[in-house]
Amino acid sequence: MQGLMQHWPLLCSKVIDHAAIHHARREVVSRSVEGPIHRTTYAEIRQRSLRVAKRLEREGVALGDRVATMAWNTWRHLECWYGILGLGAIYHTLNPRLFPEQIAWILRDAEDELIFVDLTFLPILEAIAPSVPSLRKVIVLTDGAHLPETNLPGAVAYEDWLAEADEDFRWREFDETTAAGLCYTSGTTGNPKGVLFSHRSNILHSFIAIQPNAMNLSSQSRAMPVVPLFHANGWGIAFSCPMVGAALVMPGPKMDGASIAELLTGERVTFSAAVPTVWLMLLDHLDRTKGALPDLERVVIGGAACPRVVTQAFETRYGVEVVHAWGMTETSPLGTLNVPKPETADLAGEALFDHKQKQGQTPFGVEMTITDDEGRAQPWDGETFGRLKVRGPAVSSGYFRGVGAECFDAEGWFDTGDVAHIDENATMQITDRAKDVIKSGGEWISSIELENLAVGHPDVAEAAVIGVPHPRWDERPLLVVVPKDGAAPTKEALLAHLEGKIARWWTPDDVVFVEAIPHTATGKIQKLELRRQFKDYRLPTV
Ligand code: AMP
Repeated sequence: MQGLMQHWPLLCSKVIDHAAIHHARREVVSRSVEGPIHRTTYAEIRQRSLRVAKRLEREGVALGDRVATMAWNTWRHLECWYGILGLGAIYHTLNPRLFPEQIAWILRDAEDELIFVDLTFLPILEAIAPSVPSLRKVIVLTDGAHLPETNLPGAVAYEDWLAEADEDFRWREFDETTAAGLCYTSGTTGNPKGVLFSHRSNILHSFIAIQPNAMNLSSQSRAMPVVPLFHANGWGIAFSCPMVGAALVMPGPKMDGASIAELLTGERVTFSAAVPTVWLMLLDHLDRTKGALPDLERVVIGGAACPRVVTQAFETRYGVEVVHAWGMTETSPLGTLNVPKPETADLAGEALFDHKQKQGQTPFGVEMTITDDEGRAQPWDGETFGRLKVRGPAVSSGYFRGVGAECFDAEGWFDTGDVAHIDENATMQITDRAKDVIKSGGEWISSIELENLAVGHPDVAEAAVIGVPHPRWDERPLLVVVPKDGAAPTKEALLAHLEGKIARWWTPDDVVFVEAIPHTATGKIQKLELRRQFKDYRLPTV
């Protein structure tokens, strides 16, 4: 027997409708690309999104078409998302930090014909447009007065283009499993793979995200997503904030410590989300300027392991709660969040910060397991490493165009490519990417744990650990360090700093000092490149 409840398709357009009706005057504040701070509301965002949809339809865009965006977090980018998906087309975010050839490859693979682009990225687009024959219309996210000379196909200023349509438009209706968004993951090997979010997965992901035991968002929140909309579905914030009527503060193109601090205090931000590198810049700025964070209550930190020093500084110096989270584009992206549980409520001091190094628990809607290479489930004892696999209604079931099928198994598990252990309280800790784990004498050494400890040394700006070939042990760890400006740490001092905090056999065989460590387009350490740089390195222990 079927239940007798209405089938109310979970379409993303319903989110902006709800926000516009119930939180009509809630602010959306952006630092514009042109410079000044811009203020609007959810009611206005909805009206302009309707115009985007109507205008796009006149361009010939229809259900299932991909429409690209290469833009910072601003109100215009948000309007584009809702306008595109409200028509049944697919917002396709491009990461401008990728190599231009990679961006061109992705545009061709997605067959985008239209692109919304910020002024900042016009030079990139001008360079690659000749190699993307499908591209016929470039809508520059600015007004006529700021539109520069360009020979891009069909180039037009967004505000002029938008002025040609009114908001007399009804959101299109279709099945909730229809694709809403497309985001390519920046794989370190091979071509990028397209992750295709559906309307349903975005809505369910938002329900997951707003929970008290996740991002804990409400209409009282003033949320600043520093994480760009082009990184892993913008961590879902474009949907979860309007869903509850949280005010949005968007940093536009400026993500340096001073600019972020200015918005956090000036706009009374209570909640923010970003990768660790952003927070390192902010904390450094606050340190130098003796700044404070009077309104900020909570930050979600993920995308890479959150260094202990970041958690400690936020919690002890600024009274801000840190929620360490793990996820990936394929998980929409929230997978786990480290939020307080009764079992860990009594932790204090160093024990609390040890616990906060972990990436946390899965909220309802995400299931996880760890397995060995043969697929056998491993115990949740907080020690045994395994391949981390997840499943749920906002986890990918495949990639765009069917590539990468080997990541998905018959039981619905998606192999994340991460290695983790899970403790008795169901709290997960990432120890490595499967391809970065250091295999020494048949045992695994966590590069992430060594890196976290190394950046805790006061003279270290950044640290990376890679496995270097060793005739006896297969691989041994090499610690690569970028010293802080003006500091000159020694190998002995760094190894002494690790002593007692790790098993003796985890101690790096050598330490090298470099000026910079290579990063990927999403700000992660590029281990592949680093291993290439040190492939002929001869350890002193050989
Ligand atoms: P992306 O899809 O670009 O967001 O990358 C996802 C990958 O980032 C994951 O598979 C992890 O390897 C890594 N990652 C994300 N969050 C964390 C975290 N809190 N700690 C360690 N690694 C993380």
